[in-house]
Amino acid sequence: MYYQKEIETMPVEALKDLQSRKLVRQVNHVYENVAYYRDKMDKAGVRPSDIKSVEDLRRLPFLEKEDLRNTYPSGMLAVPIKDCVRIHSTSGTTGKRVIAYYTQHDLDLWEDCVARALSAAGATVDDTVQICFGYGLFTGGMGFHGASQKLGCVTLPMSSGNTERQIQFMQDLGSTVLCCTPSYAGYLADTLTVSGLTPDDIPLKIGIFGAEPWTEEMRASIEKRLGIKAFDIYGLTEISGPGVAFECEEQNGMHINEDHFIAEIINPITGEVLPEGEKGELVLTSIDKEAFPMMRYRTHDICVLKRGKCSCGRSFIKMAKPMGRSDDMMIIRGVNVFPSQIESVLLKEGYSNNYLIEIDRVNSTDTFDVFVEFLPEDFDDTIKTVTAREKRLQSELKKMVGISPAVHLRPPMSLARSDGKAVRINDKRKLL
Ligand code: ADP
Ligand code: ZN
Repeated sequence: MYYQKEIETMPVEALKDLQSRKLVRQVNHVYENVAYYRDKMDKAGVRPSDIKSVEDLRRLPFLEKEDLRNTYPSGMLAVPIKDCVRIHSTSGTTGKRVIAYYTQHDLDLWEDCVARALSAAGATVDDTVQICFGYGLFTGGMGFHGASQKLGCVTLPMSSGNTERQIQFMQDLGSTVLCCTPSYAGYLADTLTVSGLTPDDIPLKIGIFGAEPWTEEMRASIEKRLGIKAFDIYGLTEISGPGVAFECEEQNGMHINEDHFIAEIINPITGEVLPEGEKGELVLTSIDKEAFPMMRYRTHDICVLKRGKCSCGRSFIKMAKPMGRSDDMMIIRGVNVFPSQIESVLLKEGYSNNYLIEIDRVNSTDTFDVFVEFLPEDFDDTIKTVTAREKRLQSELKKMVGISPAVHLRPPMSLARSDGKAVRINDKRKLL
C-alpha cells in the first residue's frame, strides 16, 4: 500500500530530475542563509552555480556532527526563527545534543515520510496505532504521532514506559500497530510472557521499529513472540527524524524517501564516494527543507545502498539495515567487534534481546564480558544447565567474533533496561 503512489513509484529518470531541481534550489537557499556553510563552500572553492544536478553533489563539502556542535544551537538555521513552529533534539547517544528546527512545511514533509512507512507496513484508517516511542524532544513519538493522524489511524500517544499498562491498553483499546524501539518491543514480549499471555491475547498485527540497530534474528524473535510482522524504519534528528527510510512488504532493506533526501555511501576514512553496492558510511543531503537543511551530512551509520526492481513497485533506492555506527565498533584485544554480531548469536541461541557487553582492562589485557537474560519461557537455573549453556554460548560467540568472552546468563527481566534506545556497551577502559 502506498501513501503517495505517484511519488513513491516515480520512474528513476524522473526522480533524478526532481532531485536535481530540488538540490539546486536547496544549495542556493543554504548558501544565502547559512553563513557557516557558505564559508565552508567558499573554502572548498564551490559556488552554488557549480551545482547543476545530482552529479555535482560530490563537489560540496561534508557536514559533520562536529559542525552542528560548533554552531549550537542555531548557527545552521536557514530561516528566521519566527518562521519555525517546532524544535527537536537528538537523544545525545554520542555526546552533546543537536538542536533541529522545523517550519510547518518541514513537519508536513516529515510526517508524509512516516505516513509512507505506516502505509507500506499495511496500516490503514481501520488501524489503531500505539506509539511507545518517547514523546518530547526525541523525534520518535511526535514523528509517528503526526503521521498516524494524517493517515487517519486512531492514534494512542502512549510514550515509553509502564509496560503492564501498555499491554492492558493494547488489549482494551484494540491496538493493531505498534511503534517503538526494537529493544522495547522485546521488553513488551517478555512482559507478555511473564503475565501468562500469548500473542493470541493481543490484537497487534504490525510493528514498526527503529531508532537503533537490530538484527534479523531479533526481527524473527519479535515477530514470533508478539505474533506480528515487524518492519524497520530509519532516521535521524539532523535530517528530520524517523522516516528517512522505511521497509516495504519485502522486509529486506529500507526505501529511502528520495524525493526529499539524496543518499551516498563513502569510504569513512578517505571520504571517497563508493559505487552502489559497496559497504561504507551513509551520507545524506536534504533537498526540500526550509529551516534546517543538511548538505552531505555524515551519519556515521555503516550500510549498503542498492537500487533494483522491488516487488512493491517503489522506485526509491534501498539501504540495508545499518550494522551500527562506525563509532559503535569496539576494539577488544585488537579485534573489531560490533554489538550486532553479538546480538545475532544471542538471539539465534534463544536468549533475550536484553544484553550488556562489558569491557575493561586489567593488567594491560582487555576483559570481555557478555551478560544476557534467559527468555521467561525458557528459564532454567540449575547450575548444570547454566554452566553448560554459558559454555556453549561462549564458543558460539568466539566463532562469530574471533575472541572468547566470559558469558553470564541471568534470570529473565533482571538486567537494567532503557525505555528508549538500549544501552549495549559498558566500556570501562581508560584508554587516554
Ligand atoms: P542520537 O544520534 O543522539 O542517537 P537520534 O535519535 O537522531 O540521535 O538517532 C539517530 C541514529 O539512530 C541514527 O544515526 C542511527 O545510528 C540510529 N538509528 C535510527 N534508526 C535506525 C535503524 N532502523 N537501524 C539502525 N540504527 C538506527
Ligand atoms: Zn519495496
